[in-house]
Amino acid sequence: MGVVRNVLDDGLGGLEHNFLTARVEDLVNWSRSRSSWGATFGLACCAIEMMATGASHYDLARFGMEVFRASPRQADIMIVAGRVSQKMAPVLRQVYDQMMEPKWVISMGVCASSGGMFNNYAIVQGVDQIVPVDVYAPGCPPTPETLIHAIETLHQLIEDENILRRRKEQGGGANVHILEVPAGANGVSINFRSK
Ligand code: SF4
Repeated sequence: MGVVRNVLDDGLGGLEHNFLTARVEDLVNWSRSRSSWGATFGLACCAIEMMATGASHYDLARFGMEVFRASPRQADIMIVAGRVSQKMAPVLRQVYDQMMEPKWVISMGVCASSGGMFNNYAIVQGVDQIVPVDVYAPGCPPTPETLIHAIETLHQLIEDENILRRRKEQGGGANVHILEVPAGANGVSINFRSK
């Protein structure tokens, strides 16, 4: 469960509010925020910090997040940990598209968020060009404490959001469209369209 800031007033995690008095929306959001599994998507050195966050010292199991899934169909949160190369961008987007709704994205580190020190043609200058980002974790690399803060922030967003919210059908909210590639051609091409 998440960090309790005030035992009397911590939503469904507190003492004054419980499942008998809660709305269905509160219960669903509370459950979602405490059982969100991550998609395995470590791209560079930030991934080491992400792995440390899941290990025994920081123990992501406290937040119901001990399981990172290799299958996007079983994952709720994509933590983009590391720089995103142009070659990896379509793959990242494809994994995101294969995740079931509701789904969320954390951009971990300056490289994922803005390209960082890799200001060149090979690196995507911000993963929000590929997928919609809900929370940015700053730093190079962000420490496990920073990532946990980002996760806590995301859990707060999940608790407050509309349970029927869906990303836009086209573009996934990031205004990016994947083009079908004819059989025989190599890879998937990505098409950036302006709003
Ligand atoms: S932000 Fe720093 S630690 Fe993270 S991928 Fe970039 S260079 Fe590596």
